[in-house]
Order: sequence, then C-alpha cells, then structure tokens
Amino acid sequence: MSISIPKTQKAALVVSSDSPILFKNDHPVKQPEELAPGECLVKMHCTGVCHTDLHARLGDWPLPHKLPLVGGHEGVGEVVAIGANTIDCPVKIGDRVGVKWLADSCLQCEQCRKGLEQCCAKAKLSGYTVDGTFSQYVVSYVAHVTPIPENLDSQEAASFLCAGVTVYRALKYSQTKPGDWVVLPGAGGGLGHLAIQYAVHAFGLRVVAIDTGAEKKELCLSLGAEKWIDFRETKDLVKDIKNATGGEGPHAALVSAASGTAYEQAVDYLRPGGSLLAVGLPGQAQISASVFWTVVKSINIIGSYVGNRQDAHEALNIASMGKIHCHYVSKPLSALSEVYEGMQQGTVAGRVVLKMD
Ligand SMILES: [Zn+2]
Ligand SMILES: [Zn+2]
Repeated sequence: MSISIPKTQKAALVVSSDSPILFKNDHPVKQPEELAPGECLVKMHCTGVCHTDLHARLGDWPLPHKLPLVGGHEGVGEVVAIGANTIDCPVKIGDRVGVKWLADSCLQCEQCRKGLEQCCAKAKLSGYTVDGTFSQYVVSYVAHVTPIPENLDSQEAASFLCAGVTVYRALKYSQTKPGDWVVLPGAGGGLGHLAIQYAVHAFGLRVVAIDTGAEKKELCLSLGAEKWIDFRETKDLVKDIKNATGGEGPHAALVSAASGTAYEQAVDYLRPGGSLLAVGLPGQAQISASVFWTVVKSINIIGSYVGNRQDAHEALNIASMGKIHCHYVSKPLSALSEVYEGMQQGTVAGRVVLKMD
C-alpha cells in the first residue's frame, strides 16, 4: 500500500519562551525513506492540549526541552509509514494509534523491565524532548504508540492518552479496594472529571468531588460523584471531607493542584493507612507534610507519573466500553495561542482537542 506523503505541513512551534507561537504552513515532513528502524510516521487526526504543553511553551519546568519545539502529546492519527528494517513491528500501515507523552524508552534498563518506562533515563518525551503532535505528521516509535480501540472516536480518545492514563494509573496504584472513598480536588477539571469516572466505573470507589461553582457541581454529580464540597463555600475543608466520608476520612486523595497546600491538607484528612496520590507537575510546589502525622497515620505518599504502555492500553480499553467520556471542545490548530491564554486564566472547562485535518 502506498500513501502519498507531502513534503511540507502545518505545524505550531515554540521558538522561545517569550515569543508568540509560530504557525507554519511549510514545516518539513520527515519522508518514509528518512525514518530510522523503529520509527513510524503518523498522520494526525486530532490532538488534545494538556497543561504540560503550556509548561513547555513557557519554559517554567526544571527539565530542559528542545527548541524550536512542536508541542503536544495527546495525538490520535493513522500510521502512514514505518521505518525500513523495523523488526517485530506491532503496528501496520493504516492502524489508528495514539502518540502519548512517553514517546519512546529503551525497553532494556531496570526501570523499563519493571514497567516504569516513564522513568527510563533514555525516555523520549513527545512535545518536549522530541517534536510532538501539534503538526499534521508526527514521527513516533512503533514500540510505544498506543493502539486506539475501534469503537473509540479519535477526538474522544485524544485526552485519554495523557489525562486519562495519568488518573487511571494513579488510581490503579492507590491501594484502594471497591467501596473505599477517594477525594478528588479539582474534580470538575480536565483530569478530575476523568478521575471521577475511572474511580466509579473501573475501581468501584466512592467519590468526594471538590471544586467550585454550580456548573462543576452538576458535572461532578452527573458523572457519579456521591458527595460535593465547594472549596469557596466551606469554612473547614478538612472537617467537611471527613464528615463526607463518615467521619474517618477518605482512603485516597488524588491531587494535581499547583500549590503545596492541597497536598499538605490531604495528610490531615486522609484516614490512617490512606494514600496521597500526587499527579500534578507544578514546576515549583513543595509537599510539606507533618512527618509526625504521616508516620503515626501510616500515610502513603505516592508520586504517579503518567503511565506505561500497559496502563495506556488499559485506560483506553476501559474507556472504549462506553462508560467513561471526555468533555472536550474541538478547535482548529490555529486556536492554540488562545487556548494557552485560556489555560493561564483558568477559563478552559474540560479539555480542548485540536482538529488537524
Ligand atoms: Zn499531558
Ligand atoms: Zn529504559
């Protein structure tokens, strides 16, 4: 099968942290004969926009990235070329695949062998250390692209590749059991609204949603949260959370907040033996928990970083069963600058998915 591949494409580039996003119509496309073994070329259908992309755009993380940079790491598209001499290729031309944050890893080191591929010293990160999905054609890696289940729409699938995998994996390692309580601060946001649904439908957990405003309240309750706490209205958040969970506090808290306070509070409201799942990636925030109470309450503080290939398979397969939906708005690639502005002002509800064709 031969697919015609253009020489140039549309792409959005970060040139420097203080200059505007550069939109190009003549960005080069890596041609099939230029692909190395193990690489594939994916024609993008669409791509989600994640807070990480904004960090890459602003350059405010303690982790260097390439420049100029094509950002983006929630891309769904179709494999249109595979590097010659690729051995044991798990995908074929025409397959619909996802390009996630972890673009590639060595698969041989201790971290990779243990399934902590995201901690591989040779990991390549989409839209950060290698060009990502804010272009029409993306070079990715056959070992790490995620097959998209047939009955999952491309736009819907996009946000599961980062937001979905992240919350799914954190809940998977939360040491909770069906019927346990989980607290989700920021439950009405991009990560939070998916976390409610995975908690309820994949793990059988009971959810306390924390966020603010009537619109988010309605969303959270409609997605399966049993209890709602408006952080702007509560006088004592820790007490309200404990009351909502029968007095003892929740078994787990999944926190993605940008400030350290939310992590500190979790140690206060978690029940003994509870787990604090840290999934946000603010550049500067610190966790300053009481060591005394962390020890006396036997609190587990768990950092959970996106997910490996298996987590991605599981998160997407569970989503394809039809009970978990991403609330997103669809925009063209040219809207990326406005989307970043909206994210900085906190006015983006749910996720934004950019259509690439
Ligand atoms: Zn992300
Ligand atoms: Zn490795």
